[in-house]
This record gives sequence, C-alpha cells and structure tokens, in this order.
Amino acid sequence: MNFTNGKQLLDLCNEHKLPISQVMFTRETTYLEQNPEQVFKKMEQAYTIMKQAIHRALTEDLISMGGMIGGESNKLHALRMEGKNICGSLVSKAITYAIGVLEVNASMGLIVAAPTAGSSGVIPGVLCAVQEEYDLTDAEIIQSLYTASAVGYLITRNATTAGDEGGCQAEVGSASAMAAAAITELRGGTPSQCLDAASFALINILGLVCDPVGGLVEIPCQNRNAMGASNALISAEIALSGIQSVVPIDEAIEIMYRVGRSLPMSLRETAQGGTALSPSACSACRSKSIKQTF
Ligand code: SF4
Repeated sequence: MNFTNGKQLLDLCNEHKLPISQVMFTRETTYLEQNPEQVFKKMEQAYTIMKQAIHRALTEDLISMGGMIGGESNKLHALRMEGKNICGSLVSKAITYAIGVLEVNASMGLIVAAPTAGSSGVIPGVLCAVQEEYDLTDAEIIQSLYTASAVGYLITRNATTAGDEGGCQAEVGSASAMAAAAITELRGGTPSQCLDAASFALINILGLVCDPVGGLVEIPCQNRNAMGASNALISAEIALSGIQSVVPIDEAIEIMYRVGRSLPMSLRETAQGGTALSPSACSACRSKSIKQTF
C-alpha cells in the first residue's frame, strides 16, 4: 500500500475499510521489508523511550545544556497534585509530560525525535496522558503511533518538518498534527476525521516562527511543546464532534510549507529574531555565558 498524499491515503482506507494506522503499518512492512512483528517491535521501542523520557523528567533533576530550563515538569506535576491546575486532568498531564520530554532533550537525554528533537514532547505528552485518562493498553497507543507516522510522512514528503526551513509551525505544528490524528483514531474517529484533526492542528499554528533563545532548543521551545500538545487535543475534539475541515490536509500541508518559506531568515532557527532578540533573553544568555550568533 503506497500513498504520497492525504487523498490517496483516504482512498486506501476507504477501499480496504482500514484505519490509517493499519494502512501505514502495512506500508512499513512493505518498505522496510520486515515482518509485522519486527515493525511492531520498532514502534514499541519508540513508545518505551517516550515513556522513559517522561519518567526521567519527573524523577530526576535534569539540567539543560544552556541552563535555561529544568524542573518545570515537576512544578506542573506538583500544581496538579495540589489540585490547583486550571486545565482539566488530561490537558494538565499532556502539558506536564510534553514539557518534561523537552527537559530530557535539552539535557542531551534519549528522546524520540517525532518528528524532530525540538518538538519531541508533543506526541509522548498527548499519548501518555490519553493512555492514563482512558485506561488504554500500550498496544493501542503503539498502533496509534502509525497514524501519527502517516501524517508525519505526508508532511515530510510534501513539505518540511524543519524549523530552519518552515519555522516552528513546521516542527511543533507537525508534531501537533501527528498527535491530533493519533488521538482522533484512538477515540473512534474515522480516517477522514483523523486527517481533519491534523489539518485543524496545522492551520491553528500557521505562521509560528522559530526563534530559540541563544540558538538552543530550550526557550520558547519547551512551552511551545505544551501548546502543541493542547492544540492536538483541541483539534481532535473538534474533529470528533463531526465538524469538518474546510481545508483538506493536503492543502493545509502545502499552505504551511508556503508560509514557512516566506518567513524571513531571522525567524527560521537563526536566533536572530523574535523571542531570541528580547532584551531579557539576551541578558539571560549573557548571564549563562551562552554565545549568541548576533
Ligand atoms: S522555536 Fe524553533 S527550535 Fe524551538 S521548537 Fe520551535 S522550531 Fe524547534
């Protein structure tokens, strides 16, 4: 089973009466030339790493390379434990976990770059929170990762997931779209609803710039992962309600790419614009002896 755009993917799902995850899984067995057990094991390993990263963030004192982040997931966790969280349990957990994975990433720990290291918190954050809240099995979550992969593949094939090419919308936006599609399938959505959720997620973040302070994937990246996680949940809920996206996923991907390419270089991972140029951010860099590129 092969597809290169969302329309072809939907056609395959409809023709074979399969969810997106199953079409992608079959594609993987074909292209990797591996049997289903081997392909499943690979994704199982990825999910194990995702869960371990969250666990590390909540149980270890992690200091990032730039020293600008560390300990944030524990603060969020404590807030929820005290019953003081504003978001409900699901969103609160999702943002805590997403932020935690970024702590692991920024301290050079092991994460799954899905689709990139800078956006590595979104998918584990959302999926681990959904697993806990809905009492799902690992196998169900692993299966949904193929739905996320299908969306990631579509974006990589037809646009980009690189912040230096398309801004943060291409990194966190793509991760958010991948997560949105995965949750939609997990909660019983149709393939069409999964892709609508992905489209909503991409369009919601359209235009988001890449402006890492000091050129490090710490600030604003960490909070952006929390935002990407909540955007995924919002987008999935909208799609699951039956609201249809006016913009199909293929168009959303194309638009995201075009907008990304039209962003000035200063807002594409060069640390020469946006948040990276705020006086306080520059002063934080100086106090931590982070060499700036401007
Ligand atoms: S701001 Fe740039 S470096 Fe940070 S997560 Fe977004 S795309 Fe990645």
